[in-house]
Amino acid sequence: MNFQCYNTFSIKIVATTKKMAYQPLKTIKSKVVDITPVKIAAAEESVLRNNLMSIIKRITARGWCPATAGNFSVLIGSNPLRMLISPSGVDKNLLSADDLLVVNEKVEVISGTGKPTAEGLIHAAVYQTRAARSVLHIHTVANTVLSEKHLKLGFIEISGYEILKALPGVTSHQHKELIPIFANSQDMTRLSQDIFKKLQKDKNIKAVLLAGHGLYTWGESPQAAYQHLEAFEFLFEVLSRKG
Ligand SMILES: [Zn+2]
Repeated sequence: MNFQCYNTFSIKIVATTKKMAYQPLKTIKSKVVDITPVKIAAAEESVLRNNLMSIIKRITARGWCPATAGNFSVLIGSNPLRMLISPSGVDKNLLSADDLLVVNEKVEVISGTGKPTAEGLIHAAVYQTRAARSVLHIHTVANTVLSEKHLKLGFIEISGYEILKALPGVTSHQHKELIPIFANSQDMTRLSQDIFKKLQKDKNIKAVLLAGHGLYTWGESPQAAYQHLEAFEFLFEVLSRKG
C-alpha cells in the first residue's frame, strides 16, 4: 500500500487500526477523503477511467465531437505528471474505457495502445497551472464561429447571464467572464507554452478558445468539467444566435 496515495485522515485511520490482526484494504480505502494526490491507487484509476468515459458518452451524445474531434483527460498523477487521455483519430462515439491512454507531460504513451493526441500538451499546461483533475476539449459550431469573430480582440467577455453561476466562484449573473482566444496552430508545443503563460498570469481564466477550432475547459472532476463545458457552450450558443 502506497501511503503517498492518501491524505492525513486516511493515514490516521491506518494508524489507529494498526494493531488489529487484519484490516482489509477495501475497508480502509472506503474511508479515504478524495484530495489531489501525488499518485493514485490502481483502483481509483479504474474509477476515474470509467468516470471520464461516462462524461465522454454525454459529450458525444450532444454532437460535440464531429468527425473524431475532441479530446478528454483526467489527471492520475502530478509528480511525475500522468493523465488518462482519449486517443487521437478515433470516433469518440465508439470509444471504451480501455481505449484511454496513460501519457506523461510530453504526451508520450506510458500504457495503452493507440495514437496520443498532440493536443495533450494543452491538457498538461492546464494541469501544471490549475488545481484541475479533468480537462475537456470540444469542437462546436458556436465556439468555432465566436472564436473566429473575436480573435482580433483576443478574448470574449460574457456578462449578464444566470448560467454564469455554474462556473466556479461565480455568484451573480453580473459577473464578467473573460475567455482568451488564441490563433489556431499545428505547432502544439508553442501553442501549449503560450497557453501555459496565459494561465499562469491570470488565475481567473476558466476556459480557453482556439480560433476556428474549439474550447478547452476543466474542473476538479470530469463531472465538474462537464458542467463548465455545458455552461460555456450554452453561452456561446446564445451569443452566436444573437449575432
Ligand atoms: Zn481540437
